[in-house]
Amino acid sequence: MARFKTLDDAGDVAGKVALVRVDLNLPMDGGQVTDNTRIRAAEPTIRYLSDKGAKVLLLAHFGRPKGQRSSTQSLSMVLDAVEDVLGKEVMFVPEVAGDVVAQSVGILGNGDVAILENTRFWPGEEANDPDFAKAIAANGDLYVNDAFSAAHRAHASTEGLAHLLPAYAGRAMQAELEALEKALGNPAKPVAAVVGGAKVSSKLDVLTHLVTKVDHLIIGGGMANTFLAARGVDVGKSLCEHDLAQTAENILAEADKAGCTVHLPYDVVVAKEFAANPASLRTCNMHEVAEDEMILDVGPQAVEALADVLKTCRTLVWNGPLGAFETVPFDKATVALAKTAAALSKEGSLVSVAGGGDTVAALNHAGVAQDFTYVSAAGGAFLEWMEGKELPGVVALEA
Ligand code: ADP
Ligand code: MG
Repeated sequence: MARFKTLDDAGDVAGKVALVRVDLNLPMDGGQVTDNTRIRAAEPTIRYLSDKGAKVLLLAHFGRPKGQRSSTQSLSMVLDAVEDVLGKEVMFVPEVAGDVVAQSVGILGNGDVAILENTRFWPGEEANDPDFAKAIAANGDLYVNDAFSAAHRAHASTEGLAHLLPAYAGRAMQAELEALEKALGNPAKPVAAVVGGAKVSSKLDVLTHLVTKVDHLIIGGGMANTFLAARGVDVGKSLCEHDLAQTAENILAEADKAGCTVHLPYDVVVAKEFAANPASLRTCNMHEVAEDEMILDVGPQAVEALADVLKTCRTLVWNGPLGAFETVPFDKATVALAKTAAALSKEGSLVSVAGGGDTVAALNHAGVAQDFTYVSAAGGAFLEWMEGKELPGVVALEA
């Protein structure tokens, strides 16, 4: 990975205007922010710049207003939540460029913070229109990107601005990039990847990339069924993409060529109906799944073997739960393997990096998210990184 500048390279920022791209795309319910994790993630960067006397202008998108103003998607709705986290007054500016922003900058004192309006109210944002980016940049002295979660999009506020002002990675962006570098860029070997979740089709590029990068590929979740079926295993009425049999075979062949060992479950947890603690629940060998049963989790013997694999590894990347973890007892394999990974990480023998919406929920459910080396809150951007793609927002910081 090329080097990128961080806040430590920004020099004296006192009195300067910092345009800071953050993730304020917050979950809301009835006009109230229900989870301020993303604000807290941006807090160190905002505080650093504010403490150093910069005037901090926060840039973010919110929802999908498709290039026009929408009263229900104004960033003014997150103002209170941001003030709560920062413990100080924050100004709201209903524009992202032009005189209103310039006047607001005149009113702000050194160290003050303002939130600019939802960047996606203007079509120039998603079009990455250079004139739109220039108009935003005109009111700033430096650009800081602290929103890894938006870095897979080449938009004006995530990419265009980085070319117009001195550009730096914020603290959250820096931590994310350093963790990802340790996990797949330049990892300690052997490397294991856990890929689970519902469908192969949503993670084809992830699998194809990982087989060339890791020593052990552990496949679980619904997607394991597609691989088992491709190998001639009868998976009953399990979630399975039978039309992807050839694709699954190709991935296994690629893995063979690359010297990557693929681990598929050999015992499985099955049931006739998908419900909590169903009467038909049983554990069996993968070859013993009945016609009217579905595979809903990886079996205990396989989990034990997988734990042994992790014990031999130095690095782990994890995306996707091993079973239908939202419903008991189909959370067992995910919870058990997550606990093993967490314990190894805590001991210092494993660098563990996980990401994905449901994966983060599963690790929280297992109570071990804090023991992983790094847990990424970025959904789409994390997956694109796992696919080996270059993220435009990151590339722009490296330029
Ligand atoms: P992430 O959001 O972490 O990328 P995914 O969205 O790909 O993960 O997959 C998560 C979903 O996969 C969960 O809702 C889980 O219930 C489902 N899932 C896992 N294993 C199975 C299975 N054997 N059968 C059906 N669904 C499964
Ligand atoms: Mg998901």
